[in-house]
Amino acid sequence: MMRAIQISKTGGPEVLKCVEVPVPPPGSGQVLVKIAASGVNFIDTYLREGRYAADLPFIPGQEAAGIVQEIGEDVIGFNPGDRVAWNGTRGTYAEFACAPARDLLHVPEGISFEDAAAVLLQGLTAHYLACDTFAIRPGDTVLIHAGAGGVGLLLTQMAKMLGARVLTTVSTEAKAKLSRAAGADHVINYAVQNFVERVTTATGGALLPVVYDSVGKSTFEDSLRCLRPRGLLALYGASSGAVPPFDLIRLSQMGSLYVTRPTLKDYVTTRAELERRAEEVFALVATGRLNVRIGHRYKLVDAEQAHRDLEGRRTTGKVLLISG
Ligand code: NDP
Repeated sequence: MMRAIQISKTGGPEVLKCVEVPVPPPGSGQVLVKIAASGVNFIDTYLREGRYAADLPFIPGQEAAGIVQEIGEDVIGFNPGDRVAWNGTRGTYAEFACAPARDLLHVPEGISFEDAAAVLLQGLTAHYLACDTFAIRPGDTVLIHAGAGGVGLLLTQMAKMLGARVLTTVSTEAKAKLSRAAGADHVINYAVQNFVERVTTATGGALLPVVYDSVGKSTFEDSLRCLRPRGLLALYGASSGAVPPFDLIRLSQMGSLYVTRPTLKDYVTTRAELERRAEEVFALVATGRLNVRIGHRYKLVDAEQAHRDLEGRRTTGKVLLISG
């Protein structure tokens, strides 16, 4: 038996219940992993609420790192004792979980389980946003909302490595400090300042080629106003709620703008793409060029509090559940 967090009805954080369930046997192509750390991500809250559909009951969480315990049939390349991490298969808020071998990555020497679990989903996301959704070039000025968040801190560092001038938004002075430490050139407190005005002041009136917006409902309209003609809004999240329906003619009126709603799975479409991106991210972490800030560690049984804090804007950097 193992301890796990289970959701048997959708709702607020209180529906996250700690239960005892059997350790799942690995099926064909699967690997059973003893979990050391599991990432807590915003998508877990969308599933918990029922905003994204899932069959009930289910064990939430889709990102973890740990040690291979047992392998199922037809698994090549992994053995008991291997250090591994993965993203994309649900069930990681638990002491053990089965993951498909096709999604599993070896965790390189020099990277801890905590860093691996912390950097996989958010690090791969920051990587594809900075390198592919909009390929940042030296001299670009970019705006990143929620600059002290999990993705925000990583994306800021990657944008700086690519030679950008980085503007960020945050809601508190403590978060502003963290964002600056990650390399932001100019930090705007959007809780008290109009960020469109602050952006144009910071750029001497110039508008931007790209805005990375994970906040959604409360920032979307003003994010569009920060863009120069043919600029791109990369709307990659909805932390403040979903953006309401939008009349596309307005993109023309505002300067032939582009809006994309990217998601990680479309940027790791093949095993080769997953490995290439993960290798680059792990190498940045191992060499100390990318700082993974784990802001909060909770025990598995405290998953409810982890969700309350993430949704309540009380977290910075990565949020992890630690097993054992
Ligand atoms: P964060 O650590 O960024 O936490 C969310 C932050 O959003 C808060 O800390 C807060 O920062 C800001 N925020 C602004 N308004 C609100 C609000 N009303 N309620 C809650 N938070 C608010 O989370 P993650 O880094 O884990 O994820 C960021 C976003 O990116 C999420 O929306 C997530 O779904 C999305 N995402 C998308 C992916 C993709 O591929 N499309 C992959 C990974 C994440 P502040 O207080 O400074 O405003």
